[in-house]
Amino acid sequence: MLLSDGIRRIGFRKWYERTLLASHAHLVLCFLCFIGVFAAFEATGRFTSVSDRLTDVATILICTVTGAWALRRYLRLMARAESAANQAECPRCHVYGRLVLQKADAEGDEVEVHCSKCGHGWRIEP
Ligand SMILES: [Zn+2]
Repeated sequence: MLLSDGIRRIGFRKWYERTLLASHAHLVLCFLCFIGVFAAFEATGRFTSVSDRLTDVATILICTVTGAWALRRYLRLMARAESAANQAECPRCHVYGRLVLQKADAEGDEVEVHCSKCGHGWRIEP
């Protein structure tokens, strides 16, 4: 979910929490894929038929590609969440994460917000 949609629909704090959960779910998927790769390499020597070996190679490839995708997705989501979180404190009254969306760019990652406590406005950039 984009930052602008998240602030608009569920608020910044819940967007941040859900983005962290999604990023860590991708990390778990990456870990499971690495286990799949190691298990497939371990089983390589036990297969004698060509079809079993092809299945093993296909498993290694699928787990490697999926694991790399999951790792990249984890890093991207985590960077997005942490970047926004580091800019979510009101510069005037220092309250954290109580944002009201004013304006968003076309991609939805760069937003103008104002503090729901004091009304001060600022920009959160990716
Ligand atoms: Zn404020």
